Amino acid sequence: PVRVRFAPSPTGNLHVGGARTALFNWLYAKKTGGKFILRVEDTDEARSTRASEDAMIRDLKWLGLNWDEGPDVGGPFGPYRQSERTAIYKQYAEQLVNEGHAYPCFCTDEELEQMKKDAEEKKLPPIYRGKWASASKEEVEAMKATGASYCYRFRVPKSQNVTIQDTIRGEVTWSSDTLGDFVLLRSSGLPVYNFCVAIDDCLMGITHVIRAEEHLPNTLRQVLIYDALKFPRPIFAHVSLILAPDKSKLSKRHGATSVGEFQTQGFLAPAMVNFLALLGWNDGTEQEIFSVPELSDRFNLERITKSPAVFDKVKLSWMNGQHLRSMGEEKVMSMVAAKAVELGLFKDAESPFAKAVVKLIGVNLELVADAEVLIRNFLAYPLEETLSSEDAKPFVEDNLREVIEAVVAAADSGELETSVKGGHDAFKAWINGVGKAQKRKGKRLFMPMRIALTGRMQGSEVGEQMEALLMADGQVPEGVQFT
Ligand code: GLU
Repeated sequence: PVRVRFAPSPTGNLHVGGARTALFNWLYAKKTGGKFILRVEDTDEARSTRASEDAMIRDLKWLGLNWDEGPDVGGPFGPYRQSERTAIYKQYAEQLVNEGHAYPCFCTDEELEQMKKDAEEKKLPPIYRGKWASASKEEVEAMKATGASYCYRFRVPKSQNVTIQDTIRGEVTWSSDTLGDFVLLRSSGLPVYNFCVAIDDCLMGITHVIRAEEHLPNTLRQVLIYDALKFPRPIFAHVSLILAPDKSKLSKRHGATSVGEFQTQGFLAPAMVNFLALLGWNDGTEQEIFSVPELSDRFNLERITKSPAVFDKVKLSWMNGQHLRSMGEEKVMSMVAAKAVELGLFKDAESPFAKAVVKLIGVNLELVADAEVLIRNFLAYPLEETLSSEDAKPFVEDNLREVIEAVVAAADSGELETSVKGGHDAFKAWINGVGKAQKRKGKRLFMPMRIALTGRMQGSEVGEQMEALLMADGQVPEGVQFT
């Protein structure tokens, strides 16, 4: 059975890259009926915090990526925090030493420094060439007896090609000679990162390691440890980077990058999941909107793309709009209305006016939070601003004032209200009447009308806007009047 894991280092927030890795693992577990494991890689004591772990757990839960085993829920292969597994790493380090795959190294920092310098001078790769790889049992025992401190180094096999079949990247081969005998346990007894990962993946029975491409260089060390311990290797899938739209590596300067920020901005979890799933994966069709069950049904490792994915916030917003609409008009309207009342935009969300406005702006809404701006815009009548804009210039030059005057006159006489209340045809007839009198039609008529009636050049259908405004009944803030 498939066992996959998400193994974050709790040194900050859950970023979109990490969330995507978690999601791919989770989807694969769902698809195959396997298990999804959360393992906290907190061996870097200086940078790891429990607050960060808690925040990551909160964000993963918000996305709906629940795990079968993990630090908070336990499981048969625990503990699931590396900081609580020190004794396990020590035990396996000892085993590797006993079997000759690792050895104690007593080199001091000064000796290692000197080795590095010598290698540099001779233009050799900076790998360990100390004498402890070939020291006799007696030498080691004698040294131990002096109380000198030592670390454990892994004995890297010489001149071997190490090959993995990466599900995404294909065959990847390294020469073992690129690697020196690396440290497994420091003299302080603390294990190094790659050792912990390999041991944990072995002991936790991980069948598929799906993680970011940047971890590929670690894979060589980890595979050597697997092989030495005679554990079967997992299947590897190294997922490509996520780039910003400018094709540079996605970072803070591109705006929000952590899952928590998107949640705060009002994005829906299913939209976020949909968006993350398509960062480097597709189902082979043109389909872009997926529900979470659809994703877990269709996900596979074969269709993860080798090229980097581009993080497009515009697309995320669009997707959010699609997911919003799939919740049904009723639900969206009540979310928007609640937001508007919370912001003090309407006194009563149930009034016909509030309902009409909410309905108008809800049609193209991408983010519930955007409702604020849209409602404020709707309630505003920025005529002067529009008239002085570059876009309005051709209409201003075409004697737009004359249309405004006609609208003001019709508003004063009640003719405007009557035509709006008369419904679509009556309203249209009134507009056409003005057009006839002023010898205007098409865009020369409709754009000036829109500007005169709403104060803006864009927006929903003018008749619908007028209808909503007629229902205002004292709810429209001051300043909304035909002047
Ligand atoms: N702890 C690593 C990270 O946060 C992940 C290691 C792995 O997936 O093997 O990037």
